[in-house]
Amino acid sequence: MDAARYYGNRDLRIEDIQAPTPGPGEVLIDVGACGICGSDLSEYLHGPRYDDSLPYTMGHEFGGRVAAVGDEVDIEPGSEVGVNPLVACEACRWCDEGAYNRCENLEVIGAQRPGAYAEQVVAPAGNVLPLPDSLSPADAAVAEPFTVAYHGLLRSPLQPGDSAVIIGMGPIGLALVQLAAAAGARPIIASGHREARRELARESGADAVVDPSATDLGARVRELTDGGADVSFEVAGSESALNDAITATSAGGNTTVLGVFKGDVEIDPMHVVNHERTITGSAAYETGPLAGREFGQIYEMLARDELDGDALVTSRLDLEEITSGFEALGDSESGEVKILIEP
Ligand SMILES: [Zn+2]
Ligand SMILES: [Zn+2]
Repeated sequence: MDAARYYGNRDLRIEDIQAPTPGPGEVLIDVGACGICGSDLSEYLHGPRYDDSLPYTMGHEFGGRVAAVGDEVDIEPGSEVGVNPLVACEACRWCDEGAYNRCENLEVIGAQRPGAYAEQVVAPAGNVLPLPDSLSPADAAVAEPFTVAYHGLLRSPLQPGDSAVIIGMGPIGLALVQLAAAAGARPIIASGHREARRELARESGADAVVDPSATDLGARVRELTDGGADVSFEVAGSESALNDAITATSAGGNTTVLGVFKGDVEIDPMHVVNHERTITGSAAYETGPLAGREFGQIYEMLARDELDGDALVTSRLDLEEITSGFEALGDSESGEVKILIEP
């Protein structure tokens, strides 16, 4: 089968490799669609993080059709499915407590395990999720960043009627705008550097959009709210975004951080102490025996058209075109948001 193998910085090669076979408890999936994630892009542009595992196959946002199943698997071959790509050990302290996404031995399909920039991929049966009839494998791929955003929303104390600031208009930030709107947040203020994405944020339910390089975000938020937002979300992974997110909240406000940071950043802790603000971390989403819970809720919301997955998808490419997809996403002028690879 063909797979896009990552050999290191800006080096993806389509190779014909041995197709995987499903072992006991595993499912072999013909990949229908796999989204290019910001974390994959970061590995492509700035990696490799680990030299000793090269080459490997990335791709963790995917859905497809069941091709075959191993022993002890009760899933119908031929059915269309989504996949939760986080594989928890189910043996460590956090897994014992049911917080599977905090697993000390967490493995990701598309990182430690072969991923879905390939014609076929293997997943543990517990990670393979049924799709509502009206959803396609492409919807399953888009559901992954929505589920990241959804977990962040559930980690935050947001209540209907609360004001929310969302900083960083990548796919997860844009998904959060839709989810916050569906959850009844008002007003929603979205901050992002790219004009096309601010426009998309407005179409997705943001009441106001801000270019943080042109406008004082904090001042704008105070103008639109009663002295600051109830909650904020940092989805950019930058020092300025984190500081903006904290100071945009009112006294007692909460900042939930989903952004992926590359190193140390500086904040003034007095911004947290003086006004009794809180900061909450949010990492991916539930998995293990709970693999289908948050994902399933996102599938249902997509199926009921309460969320618009297609709004994020800007291109669909063949596996052979994957390098051009990564390059386009790395180019801030390209206007791309979410690119789906369809092997
Ligand atoms: Zn992702
Ligand atoms: Zn564990």
